[in-house]
Amino acid sequence: MNTPCILVVEDELSIQRGLQDQLQRDGYRVEVAGTVAEALAALQHRPDLVVLDRRLPDGDGLEVLRDLRARGDRTAVLVLSARGTTDDRVHGLEHGADDYLGKPFHLRELLARIRAVLQRRSEAHSPAATIAFGDVTLDVGARLLRRGSEIVELARMEFELLLYLARQPGRTVSRNELLDRVWGHDRFPSTRTIDYHVLALRKKVEADPASPRHLITVHRVGYRFDP
Ligand code: CA
Repeated sequence: MNTPCILVVEDELSIQRGLQDQLQRDGYRVEVAGTVAEALAALQHRPDLVVLDRRLPDGDGLEVLRDLRARGDRTAVLVLSARGTTDDRVHGLEHGADDYLGKPFHLRELLARIRAVLQRRSEAHSPAATIAFGDVTLDVGARLLRRGSEIVELARMEFELLLYLARQPGRTVSRNELLDRVWGHDRFPSTRTIDYHVLALRKKVEADPASPRHLITVHRVGYRFDP
């Protein structure tokens, strides 16, 4: 999988640098722009997602968004703004933003939203919209689990956990990674929350939950999905 590239459009250098550092630590490629003009130029490099501040020295960041959408370009855009009122939020979303975050924001929340937007995009474009194993089919788009001809209800975090593991068959995933990548900013659960969700999932997807064949415990580390 290619490393996603994020264009950070922000004129406040402390925020720009802070975002750049953190996003690079999270494994993204990052470009930065401090003005509308620089942002329009940087779009030539086709980033996967644009973090877009609105108050820029040479105009409103929404000009960048309008320019993109007017050309039919669906690049993901997350708008940042001190104008965090509901009207501004609706305005941004009406112009085709994928998400909108008011300033000041918590870095963790921004990172979680970036991941969520990129995830939705990759799901929407992914040809593999279902994942099948055993007698189970996970319909990713509809967020449904089918077992034989039956539809099995999954709680939201059960679905997210199963999807995260099933997308990386054969790879051992640590509990800390699951906390960070699946639960993210939502809550701060303990590692026991993960164990509890795995137990619940096994009852739904395993022929014999007591000796699982798909959701495997890797002693002292975490879990592995075997198709
Ligand atoms: Ca600004």
